[in-house]
Amino acid sequence: MTVPYIDLQQINSRFEASILEEFEGVFDSGRYILGDRCSAFEFDFASFCGTSQAIGTGSGLDALTLIFESYIQLGLLKQGDKVLVPAHTYVASIMAIIKSGLSPVFVEPNLDTFNLDFDDLENQYSKDVKAVLAVHMYGQLVDRDALLSFCKSHNLLLIEDAAQAHGAQYSDTIRAGNIGDAAGFSFYPTKNLGALGDGGMITTNNSDLAHVARQLRDYGRSSRREFSRLGMNSRLDEMQACILSLKLKALNSDNQLRRDIAKRYLSEIVNPLIVLPFYSGGSDHVWHIFGLRTDRQTDLLSHLAAQGVEAMVHYPIPIHHQSVYKHWTDRDLLLTALISQTQVSLPISPVMTATQIDQVIYAVNSFRS
Ligand SMILES: *Cc1c(COP(=O)(O)O)cnc(C)c1O
Repeated sequence: MTVPYIDLQQINSRFEASILEEFEGVFDSGRYILGDRCSAFEFDFASFCGTSQAIGTGSGLDALTLIFESYIQLGLLKQGDKVLVPAHTYVASIMAIIKSGLSPVFVEPNLDTFNLDFDDLENQYSKDVKAVLAVHMYGQLVDRDALLSFCKSHNLLLIEDAAQAHGAQYSDTIRAGNIGDAAGFSFYPTKNLGALGDGGMITTNNSDLAHVARQLRDYGRSSRREFSRLGMNSRLDEMQACILSLKLKALNSDNQLRRDIAKRYLSEIVNPLIVLPFYSGGSDHVWHIFGLRTDRQTDLLSHLAAQGVEAMVHYPIPIHHQSVYKHWTDRDLLLTALISQTQVSLPISPVMTATQIDQVIYAVNSFRS
């Protein structure tokens, strides 16, 4: 039997009856965009993160782009300002910066956590840098204290890309989405909190920012018939909003199941060819991705495939080698490139069975040179 990397049908079938019931409700309401269900989910998600504001969007990319564009509208950022961002991330983090007219400055990763490296963050700082886009890679929070003191000492805006970290918590009251000035989430189906389509969310405690972002996601609308800003169309629809409200109730327990699997991988995978990731053991990690490293990436991938285990690489082409970004840096990002060549992601999800977890562990442990 093959262990799939992720089985979305199984993940969602746990909610099938209630989703279908909600669907009927939305159908009958006759209101499909920006209705009560979107507002209710925004309220629930803000309370969950501990922020005063949440603004539903059409995707995670749009959530991040809307944050930057709102700061530009508020005069807190201007075209050409530089934004520090980890180079080991998904293409969307960088795209949001450039699409908003800002310039990314790439920061190398830490090889144990896959999160941005603080020495390099400090080294890449210059007077033109006005913000940091911190990505909680694989679901693990970037060191909050270090991040806040860095941003404070240079007077920088701190924006979180929390697309992989729904529910990761620094303390009982401080979760991903409530660490910096604003955060962008994605509800792409594979994320820890996933819709049955596209969706995203901005969280913030800044009501001015929230006000502008709400206008910008709806063409820049300032009242029913008036438009005062050049916005976009990026809204979270009613169907996705009510599916997400349902699934939010299971997020903490789903994240705990992911942590339990990660703990088994960390204690039971023993193989000199494998470097396991760093984990504090706490709730600051929600294991969107379980990424390990090996010098023998291609061989491990084919060994796992032969053993019936679907694995992935995050991300096979490093950001600075993507043709779309080639004009944005001439720096040799050696550690970022090294991760692309050595990283392997194992299956991890709340619907994995004990037998499937055993099979993954056996497959990795039986890998030989
Ligand atoms: C998924 C993801 C995004 C983009 O989200 P979409 O909803 O697919 O646009 C942004 N950043 C990171 C780190 C992601 O993993």
